[in-house]
Amino acid sequence: MTTTNTVISSNFIQNIINEDLKANKNNSRVHTRFPPEPNGYLHIGHAKSICLNFGIANEYKGLCNLRFDDTNPSREEIEYVESIQEDVKWLGFDWDDRMFYASDYFDQIYEYAIKLINTGNAYVCDLTAQQIREYRGTLTEPGTESPYRNRTVAENLELFAGMKAGEFADGSRVLRAKIDMSSPNVNLRDPILYRIMRAEHHRTGNKWCIYPMYDYAHPISDAIEGITHSICTLEFEDHRPLYDWLIAALNMEKRPQQIEFARLNVTNMVMSKRKLRALVEEGLVDGWDDPRMPTLSGLRRRGYTPEAIRDFCERIGVAKSNSTVDIAMLEHCIREDLNTKALRAMAVLRPLKVVIENYPEGQVEELEIENNPEQPETGMRTIPFSRELYIEQDDFMENPPKKFFRLAVGQEVRLKSAYFIKCEQVIRDEQTGEVIELRCTYDPETKSGAGTTTRKVKGTLHWVSATHAVKAVVRLYDYLLSEEQDTEQVDKNFKDDINPNSMEKLTSCMVEPSLLNAVPENRYQFLRQGYFCLDAKDSTAEVPVFNRIVGLRDSWAKNQKA
Ligand code: ATP
Ligand code: MG
Repeated sequence: MTTTNTVISSNFIQNIINEDLKANKNNSRVHTRFPPEPNGYLHIGHAKSICLNFGIANEYKGLCNLRFDDTNPSREEIEYVESIQEDVKWLGFDWDDRMFYASDYFDQIYEYAIKLINTGNAYVCDLTAQQIREYRGTLTEPGTESPYRNRTVAENLELFAGMKAGEFADGSRVLRAKIDMSSPNVNLRDPILYRIMRAEHHRTGNKWCIYPMYDYAHPISDAIEGITHSICTLEFEDHRPLYDWLIAALNMEKRPQQIEFARLNVTNMVMSKRKLRALVEEGLVDGWDDPRMPTLSGLRRRGYTPEAIRDFCERIGVAKSNSTVDIAMLEHCIREDLNTKALRAMAVLRPLKVVIENYPEGQVEELEIENNPEQPETGMRTIPFSRELYIEQDDFMENPPKKFFRLAVGQEVRLKSAYFIKCEQVIRDEQTGEVIELRCTYDPETKSGAGTTTRKVKGTLHWVSATHAVKAVVRLYDYLLSEEQDTEQVDKNFKDDINPNSMEKLTSCMVEPSLLNAVPENRYQFLRQGYFCLDAKDSTAEVPVFNRIVGLRDSWAKNQKA
């Protein structure tokens, strides 16, 4: 088993668990679960829940189950079940043999409903959905009891059996808990436990035409699995009395405790599977794993590491009130991780040709360059240097301002790990007047590591040898959503905030030849350009495609210092 030791900074959930352990509650067991509904791919918000649940289990030498909360067959698919497993594993967590489905418990959940009927705690109600809503009352007014509320146990048992046997139309009857129509908490006003819905389920097929509601199935699933701490997000806080009522009414042997924490929101990201699904289905992105998506598969394809995401989840902590985290903090985490891990490479994204007039034609030198100066043990590699090179277009200016230390006519710069070169002449396209080539000279006395010169230059440029370089496609990303995404504002259409320039595709990049051997698992720092990762899907043997994970400028770290 591979487990990841996530050390979670002390939080209120740990305080609760510590107290429980002191009191020897649950025989001092700690057992959590991560309960995704398989109706979409996991996103970074889920990562917070995964790190929390599996992290607590690791920390207390307890257990954490993976449970698919598959009580709503109309929205769920096997594709999602598979992607969720892949993503949890990729993040570095393991459920061993404890992967469950709420649908595994459908028989037991049904039996528990009969128990509730027998104890006078549930009844079959014939009101329409509309009527049920009207009878429910409001936050300020109590509800009204259903005329079906006082059916006899025998009648309820018969009708409920009929519901299961498919004798009634979809939506014509429901099973409801009999609690309190005047409770100040609307969740306790005889909530629905079961509904009739003829839908094929991805696991149970057509066995059932009644399905339990989430609020009913969840505490039962937790109790069946012996979960001790059922950690969920804040919107379920008002549902906790129902959770506790069900556990008590069913006289469950194991009594899990629900604990709520604030969900993760990140600026410039949507954190709702429904919205993410809309982006995918409407073709606004290139699938759930589009590198701009906040899904774990998108972040993975973009080049994010599981270590960086776990670090992020740890830093944001666990709180009781909702807030939004700056996306710059996530970017800071990946930069920090990649600064030590990423191999350095030279890639010219917008090439401008340079001819070194005094360098012998046909000569090639293999120059040494470090793989990662932060990790000297990664050693050196060689890169070919020759008479014709490429540099970045914007490393040259015809009429440079005073503090431009890059290349200009008459100005000298250092080529990284190579020589100083001086620009002598500009060659233009005859038609457009555009600069298409620079004529330069080099000074052999300035060879990196071996030269004798005492001259200094201020600018160092990255470059590639034109004859040796490999053509590549590079995708630069901006945020998919331009605005802060406030999840509370339900009426706002998030699609209005889609950034039309969230991807820039550069198709004539020139990269050093070693990048032909790039693999998606390796991340690279292209000198002066940021961190990049090979795209496993779109790359071909001839043309590698690189995604920019993140640029080099760390606005978050800068703000922390300011
Ligand atoms: P969505 O609104 O994206 O569909 P959900 O809560 O319906 O999310 P589930 O599949 O039910 O998605 O979530 C599985 C677990 O992940 C739940 O325990 C849920 O509370 C947690 N979770 C979902 N979104 C977040 C988030 N943004 N931050 C923290 N935890 C989250
Ligand atoms: Mg949900």
